[in-house]
Amino acid sequence: MSSEVETSLDGRLGILPKASQREISRLRFAPLEVTKRILLGAHMSIRGGVSKAIERARSIDCTAMQIFVKNNMQWFARPLRREEIRAFIDHVQRRELLSIFAHANYLINLAATNPQFHANSIRALSEELTRADQLELPFLVLHPGAHVGAGEEAGLEKVVESIDRVLAGLPKIKTRIALETTAGQGSCLGNKFEQLAYIISRVREPERLCICLDTAHVFAAGYDISSEASMGKTLREFDRVIGLDRVVAIHLNDSKTACGSRVDRHEHIGKGRIGLDAFRFIMRSRRFHKIPKVLETPKGKELREDVMNLTTLRTLASKRAVIC
Ligand SMILES: [Zn+2]
Ligand SMILES: [Zn+2]
Repeated sequence: MSSEVETSLDGRLGILPKASQREISRLRFAPLEVTKRILLGAHMSIRGGVSKAIERARSIDCTAMQIFVKNNMQWFARPLRREEIRAFIDHVQRRELLSIFAHANYLINLAATNPQFHANSIRALSEELTRADQLELPFLVLHPGAHVGAGEEAGLEKVVESIDRVLAGLPKIKTRIALETTAGQGSCLGNKFEQLAYIISRVREPERLCICLDTAHVFAAGYDISSEASMGKTLREFDRVIGLDRVVAIHLNDSKTACGSRVDRHEHIGKGRIGLDAFRFIMRSRRFHKIPKVLETPKGKELREDVMNLTTLRTLASKRAVIC
């Protein structure tokens, strides 16, 4: 077993048969059938129950998926029932997904200036971390927050204090918080790598934080990734400021909007302003083989768009050359 693979897959979800581990370590020369083992998938709806998401993901051959742990537009929900948790964990197709992780709901704002919103945010994040932990998910992706006029510094301070409070209240929870890079729309924090590095450096338990890189957000935030050269430069910058070893997931989205627009609009892979070079780079980069990659691109109930985008990504991955 190569040490790269051993450390590659996140804790509880990284149990692969030895043959699969060997396959993954050989992915740099991977023919198409082996690239199916790449940790690749999409965000999946939990309509009908969390375990239904597993079936949706497997119906289009995903090996990784992201889910909400409850309705993403509501603050709170009744706790998960024991049967729902068991139906998810013991699902017959559960192990076919090599990586499953969660995304927090969009209402949460740890930098909220309105006391009620802030209190709701703390409670909702705590409850979602608890749900993700019950489902044995390794991390919950979270947008750092929006300062809503209070200013970047005050906003970041509030995020740090809030994360400290939430994590202190959940000492036994293993699920980590994956801060997501953002487009910086409005007063949203997290569009500069330095802001994420600041949060990680200031919290009391930095080992419970990690990073989710979103290609559309990074690009809209002003980091060019549209060519191999610019992608390499942006990743070196990320590595210098935050450290690529913090990255636990990648959101693969093309962008409808231009680099530096700070407007967050996802587009199908290769159809937006980022273009295929960035995705080819990520899909073939040895550094990212161990990182789950999921789509968050527009789609209908039948998932046809996911199939199209996943086919594009698998094709990009299947060529022999390796970058990085
Ligand atoms: Zn997100
Ligand atoms: Zn994202």
